[in-house]
Amino acid sequence: MILQILRRLVQASVLLVMVSIALMSLYAHYRSARVIDDDQLMAGMRGETVTKLMHPYIDALDDPNKFLDGNKGTLWSMKFLGVDLTDPLAAAEMLATSRHVHWPLMASIVIPVIFTLLLGRVFCSWICPGYVLFELTGKLRRLLRFAEIQPADVSFSHRNKYIFLVVGLAMAAVCAAPLFALIYPPVVISRIIHAWIFGTALSGMLVLLSAIVAVEVFISPRWWCRTICPGGALYGILGWARPVRVKLRKTMCTGCMDCVPVCEAGINPITQSSSIECDNCGVCIRHCGDKALYFTIGLPGRQNSRPKMKTQAVTKVAAVLMVCLVPLLTPTPAMAHHVLGLPHYSYKDNYPQRPTLEYPATTGPYDVLMTSYPGIPVPGEPANIAMYIKNRESQQVYAEPITIRVLQTSTFGDNIIILPSTTRTPFDNEYKVHVTLPVDGEYVVEISMPVEGRVEVIPFLMVAGQPTAMASLVITGSFGVVFVFVAIRAIQKKRQRRRRAGGHVDNEAGAFATGEFVALGEKVL
Ligand code: SF4
Ligand code: SF4
Repeated sequence: MILQILRRLVQASVLLVMVSIALMSLYAHYRSARVIDDDQLMAGMRGETVTKLMHPYIDALDDPNKFLDGNKGTLWSMKFLGVDLTDPLAAAEMLATSRHVHWPLMASIVIPVIFTLLLGRVFCSWICPGYVLFELTGKLRRLLRFAEIQPADVSFSHRNKYIFLVVGLAMAAVCAAPLFALIYPPVVISRIIHAWIFGTALSGMLVLLSAIVAVEVFISPRWWCRTICPGGALYGILGWARPVRVKLRKTMCTGCMDCVPVCEAGINPITQSSSIECDNCGVCIRHCGDKALYFTIGLPGRQNSRPKMKTQAVTKVAAVLMVCLVPLLTPTPAMAHHVLGLPHYSYKDNYPQRPTLEYPATTGPYDVLMTSYPGIPVPGEPANIAMYIKNRESQQVYAEPITIRVLQTSTFGDNIIILPSTTRTPFDNEYKVHVTLPVDGEYVVEISMPVEGRVEVIPFLMVAGQPTAMASLVITGSFGVVFVFVAIRAIQKKRQRRRRAGGHVDNEAGAFATGEFVALGEKVL
């Protein structure tokens, strides 16, 4: 019980940290745009009250900028209390896309990897906000049943996610594009929180998350975590030999099977708690009335219930993974990927000033940093956009001409060209353009640059003003409407059942009173 309370507290703290980090990013924008002290400029700005409340506390620190730099990012890669942390899946995908070992990145996965080696897939059950969301889908399925709407119960093989992990990494290597960074629930949820706080749309991610939720509610319970999630697959493989695991006291188990339906991983805790699917959530232990299940610490070899077949399956998956990863360490071809798929730190340490908005990306051997002043451009007023490009290994500044263009993104139809392709040569190590963004909305600053004989295009997302994320509102609103409809129906059905039961009791009482009850009994017999 205490463990479950602790788990819920950790899950709540993770959500709180994500919201706080997003708010700190917003505060950092206002601070570096030097508007946070100015009541007139801040009037009506997004998050005005909260950021102004934060200001005296952060400003009183010895080095506010260092503090803000030390707390940023998403669950994909973040700095928390100054410590670099990266999801092992992010590192694997980065390795696949860049075919380059970036040592600061490798150092940042040490803590998550050690935790997983010792405790297994606890990232899933204790940290991942997707887990919390998908646990809620289980409650929604119960509500549906209560409303006498029977959701389907299709099950898929757990092995699919290991295949998806291998195929996704291979695709990342071939296409040099991060796929997992766009669909991995912890990242998607982190970005949606950022987007809500910054007022940007991210409708695509919300659609994806809504689709997963819809599948889980109506078709297959815990579909994503059990059968799709590449992160869950990687954590499972890493935690295969975890010393901390659930164990069964065979002598105390009465075979009541109470632990089976409560397992979020969809396994049988009596026979499979040692499998890599178990995320050590401990829910089965709490539900075991006979106290037959418990956590144990011991050498993996001493565990008594690990099925041999599973061990062989894991070995095969690990072998396939290794075979896929080794060729990725060969020399890097030209490739590009967007900042959102990449760790955000370690790239700008040598740049002298603290820009207002900074987006890093990599292409081939180059690190690219886009900055903008002001951080959130004001529609109708010019914004200064600058690019800094340097070779990651030699630290040499890139000197070739590059092309920059700016587009306004459109939910429906083509993007609108705001700044047509403009060629720029570096001045003082910077490529600069001035652009006036016409209205509140999302924009893409796109640069094209020659890299190792190919032209690579890198898009950077930017927001001007305070756009209203209409599509996001519509999606969220639709879910709210469906939920209210199901809840009302559940209440109606409950009342109907109660009425029927009440009527039944009344009839029985009436029949008893008139002596018909005896006849009724005889009929039944
Ligand atoms: S399987 Fe994936 S989405 Fe599910 S809890 Fe684990 S990391 Fe999160
Ligand atoms: S076997 Fe127990 S500890 Fe493991 S995932 Fe299922 S409920 Fe959680």
